[in-house]
Amino acid sequence: MNGSYLERLYPSWGQQFKVEEVLFEHRTDHQHLVIFNNQQWGTVMALDGIIQTTEKDEFIYHEMMTHVPMLAHGSAKNVLIIGGGDGGILREVLKHKSVEQVIQVEIDQAVIDMCIEFLPGHSQGAFDDPRVEVVIDDGVHFVNQTEVQFDVIISDSTDPIGPGEVLFTSSFYQGVNRCLNQGGVFVAQNGVSFMQLDEVTTSYQRLSSEFKQAAFYTAAVPTYVGGIMAFAWATNNLALKSVDSSVLQQRVCDLNCHYYNPDIHVAAFALPAYINQAIKGVA
Ligand code: SAM
Repeated sequence: MNGSYLERLYPSWGQQFKVEEVLFEHRTDHQHLVIFNNQQWGTVMALDGIIQTTEKDEFIYHEMMTHVPMLAHGSAKNVLIIGGGDGGILREVLKHKSVEQVIQVEIDQAVIDMCIEFLPGHSQGAFDDPRVEVVIDDGVHFVNQTEVQFDVIISDSTDPIGPGEVLFTSSFYQGVNRCLNQGGVFVAQNGVSFMQLDEVTTSYQRLSSEFKQAAFYTAAVPTYVGGIMAFAWATNNLALKSVDSSVLQQRVCDLNCHYYNPDIHVAAFALPAYINQAIKGVA
């Protein structure tokens, strides 16, 4: 990497990291995995040339992907995580006392193993929790054959290129709907909307044909460059999206968050006009 790492998500623009030390680099059975140290962001993990997570800003993404659906639901017992090999989502889900079972379906064991070794602050031992079952499988296969029903399903996937591509298809969303409890909610990382607006409109079209409600909420994650990241939201329980911040405040308990709070939760669903206009254009 000759001392620097260039993210190649966009052909004519990107971000560069000075590489202090390469901790791991390998082409696994599914993707190119690299983990390196950078002075600004700490330990950084990338898959197929795209930044996945960094020590310094992971809390923003993992708290917003987890606590918005979990606190909107309020009493999730069974949770499904698709992807999320670094363990950050799993760590946050397990903070909720209502959780009795978490199944994590990750396609690449190497991501789990290497993140436990080189990014231990992400999972913090979460994979050893007795409530957790890890399944090494393609998420689209799992949701279309599992007999388990879930209260919250979180798709913490890579971008819709390579192994992650299937996690943005109607077949995946149909599978999610079949294993989601009636009162449940599904959320997914859905790209940086200024740069990947087509991912928002495509997901909206596919989700709204599967669920009674499809929506988005956002947060700015510094190393997902290009502005706010959109999180897809889909449910058949229309009450969940409008849970009042006072109710969320009662539920938040001692989650020890550094980004999430009930006011941010409610505000995150307020979208910029360009996103609303794009969604309206495909509704
Ligand atoms: N936070 C990151 C982001 O927003 O880009 C995603 C982090 S996480 C590392 C993404 C995970 O999805 C990886 O561990 C990858 O192996 C996994 N993954 C990709 N495609 C998958 C699939 N079809 N089924 C299950 N896991 C998948």
